[in-house]
Amino acid sequence: MFKPVVTLVGRANVGKSTLFNRLTRSRAALVADFSGLTRDRHYGEGRVGERPFIVVDTGGFEPVAKDGILLEMARQTKQAIAESDVVIFLVDARAGVNAHDHEIARLLRRSGQRVYLAVNKAEGMRHGGATAEFHELGLGEPHAISASHGDGVVDLIEQALSYLDEPAADDGGDADGGGDAHAAAAAEFEIDEGSHRVHEHDAQLAEADADAGTGDTPQAVDHRIKLAIVGRPNVGKSTLINTLLGEERVIAFDLPGTTRDAIEIEFERDGVSYTLIDTAGLRRRGKVFEAIEKFSVIKTLQAIEACNVVLLMLDAGAEISDQDAHIAGFVLETGRALVVAINKWDGTDRDQRERIQREFERKLRFLSFARMHTISALKGQGVKSLLKSVNAAHAAAFAKLSTPRLTRTLHAAVEQQPPPRKGIFRPKMRYAHQGGQNPPLIIIHGNALDAVSDSYRRYLEARFRETFDLAGTPLRIEFKSSH
Ligand code: GDP
Ligand code: GDP
Repeated sequence: MFKPVVTLVGRANVGKSTLFNRLTRSRAALVADFSGLTRDRHYGEGRVGERPFIVVDTGGFEPVAKDGILLEMARQTKQAIAESDVVIFLVDARAGVNAHDHEIARLLRRSGQRVYLAVNKAEGMRHGGATAEFHELGLGEPHAISASHGDGVVDLIEQALSYLDEPAADDGGDADGGGDAHAAAAAEFEIDEGSHRVHEHDAQLAEADADAGTGDTPQAVDHRIKLAIVGRPNVGKSTLINTLLGEERVIAFDLPGTTRDAIEIEFERDGVSYTLIDTAGLRRRGKVFEAIEKFSVIKTLQAIEACNVVLLMLDAGAEISDQDAHIAGFVLETGRALVVAINKWDGTDRDQRERIQREFERKLRFLSFARMHTISALKGQGVKSLLKSVNAAHAAAFAKLSTPRLTRTLHAAVEQQPPPRKGIFRPKMRYAHQGGQNPPLIIIHGNALDAVSDSYRRYLEARFRETFDLAGTPLRIEFKSSH
């Protein structure tokens, strides 16, 4: 169900960020700010080859670091390695093998992860000549690539992801670092079944889910709302989940098998069915769910990709951090519907309330399409109306926009305020139709539409939003000119 995670590892200057940019072709990569790090980690959506994936650039990597910033970086990188489906280890064909590469190779071998060795900067080098000496790293066949020219990159990615198509029979040979922990958690569950129906999601079921299509494909028949609750550690995600689930019957709880599997919790509330997608490694202790894993950017991103509505939680008592803004930016990038909850409202005084609202205006103004709620997850205040907004955002994301009504709205908007000329061209808009859902995509046909300005696009967006009641979902508008 989740998009696979491809992590780029290697020492400084081997070409990781060059490869990252080629894979994502997106300048709007998500940057995670782990304060104090000299270089941030980048996360983006991979757009190469047949299969979508998440790509992580780990920055420079000093595996033998003993203290301070380097140690923290090494820790973060190790976490990224543990959380990935595939690691691409980059080395530099021109510089040759060095001691540092050996250190990283040793660490990767110990991780038990699937590693592909990419010998970068190999453009123009003799076939086989570039890769020969890298066999000694003991990581299998080296792949010659050129991140800057693009040689070999698509092949490498397709090969790296192809194993996901193999039937995932047993996980035993995989020596997955997290495997034992998962198995232990699963065992714990079986003992502690309680009144909930708990069942294991085997790999085949997971594949079937993937085939049924989530994410970008609209699910016309599935009215279940896939909800991801995301936010920094301690904002109150587990508390809210317990408040949501406390009164409700949990229908199914899928156990994690491999790193690829997610935990999903199904519940119903006021006649609406939800699937909660876990971001934090929820475990059940007695009747209470708690997040036992530390915050994971990768899990957060995967949950955002896998859901259709994101609930972004902020803490009323804390500052809105860059990390919050980055998560929000990624939501926008993926086009997921969004509801914002400012939690811990119970503990705030007037000054704090004003401060957080000012900060929200300043740092997260680009989320103005989303409904914002102030809640107390602990006391259950505001939760009912929060869920109403989740339902509304889901409905908006999957709204059916009829061509006649879209076209009427377009014509009315143009009549009231025609698009400005650009040079000798005046854009002419003929009709509009819907090109997709979650997020809704409106395609406008006409002539000279390249000349439409951003501000005019925003004007049209506002008109469509108001006519079709699209609060809670991003809206995309595309122009198609006949000439
Ligand atoms: P990072 O520190 O691993 O992220 O490395 P960068 O992506 O910043 O690249 C380091 C240097 O190597 C830059 O000057 C790049 O232009 C150069 N570089 C990256 N990929 C290639 C390549 O495929 N061929 C050549 N010749 N240079 C490359
Ligand atoms: P998570 O890391 O996002 O899952 O956060 P938790 O749910 O574990 O909550 C972190 C802390 O915030 C706990 O001590 C909670 O009791 C507290 N907390 C959560 N929600 C609220 C709330 O609405 N009001 C107050 N005052 N505290 C809360």
